[in-house]
Amino acid sequence: MADAVSPIRLRLDGDALTHNWQQLAKLSGNAATGAAVKADAYGLGAREVVRRLSDIGCRDFFVAHWSEAKAIADIIPANQISVFNGVSEADLKVAQELGAVPILNNPNQIALWKQIKGGRCHVMLDSGINRLGIGPEQIDASLFDGLDIDILASHLACADEDVAQNKAQLDCFKQMATGIKAKRLSLASSAGIMLGSSYHFNLTRPGLSLYGGIARPEMDTFIKPVVHISSQIVQLRELNAGDPVGYNATYSCTKKTRVATAAIGYADGYFRGFSNKGSVCFGELSLPVIGRVSMDLITIDASQATSLQEGDWVDIAYNLPEASRASGYAQYELLTGLGRRSDRSWISADQIAH
Ligand SMILES: *Cc1c(COP(=O)(O)O)cnc(C)c1O
Repeated sequence: MADAVSPIRLRLDGDALTHNWQQLAKLSGNAATGAAVKADAYGLGAREVVRRLSDIGCRDFFVAHWSEAKAIADIIPANQISVFNGVSEADLKVAQELGAVPILNNPNQIALWKQIKGGRCHVMLDSGINRLGIGPEQIDASLFDGLDIDILASHLACADEDVAQNKAQLDCFKQMATGIKAKRLSLASSAGIMLGSSYHFNLTRPGLSLYGGIARPEMDTFIKPVVHISSQIVQLRELNAGDPVGYNATYSCTKKTRVATAAIGYADGYFRGFSNKGSVCFGELSLPVIGRVSMDLITIDASQATSLQEGDWVDIAYNLPEASRASGYAQYELLTGLGRRSDRSWISADQIAH
């Protein structure tokens, strides 16, 4: 049977991905640079991301679930994979078979790991995010006895802001780490790398900015977009002043309007926050999304684009910080929400048409 052709193209720029990792590695100074590849590498596809970053020297990969560790363990040595969520009873079998390394988050996980003589492990300290990790009050003299700790980590809650909590967490982490035997210390994710060398320790673990996210405004100058989305126009129609567009008629034409309907919607990660807020590009023209985003379709005011035809492709405006401001979704959500029914391919920088 013939292949079905997707009306959505997702182009992933492999050169931009490696550029971003190398930039973050340079900024990390003497610290090694890992990669957070949880949630299928933020929606981009963990296997391809891991392969590419491993090729340029990345040796520490972070996932949240054991299923995610399993999905990449044939590409890289399992001992390069760390599992943020740690271990529960239900994970022990796969943990031991696989050889990926849990990040132990609380005294129960530590007890479990000691009980099975699990070997090399990582430990997460909670220096103030109060989410996952061992809090200062939980540390006692014998808690870490007998553990072979490689990475001793903590996580910043507000690294994308300039607030006193960053320094407070840094100080708390240092204080908690004193006296715990570990090979390496790690605190900074993408935004944390920008806070300076005192936050880098031995290993940084960026995620968002590898994939083109601008974790702090000053990253805009050197982080390149990785994700490029385009969609095909399925219909063009002339409407008149007063005609409503889309579900619940949230837009009414104020004049004679050439409306283009493109085949992408919230099922593809183009969320309803873009209703009446998003835009697409056709050549040099920026065309606004009008009306509500539906599951499979968006409607566009294409009045300016007189040469636009049914079957043409438009580029979805997906500059992450701008799209985040327009839609109200975090850059993280815009990446992890990317749908699975588009035609995906990895390309190199010179294949991106603009
Ligand atoms: C997701 C995550 C990271 C990566 O954070 P980014 O903001 O995407 O760079 C690092 N550390 C932990 C504990 C995480 O959960």
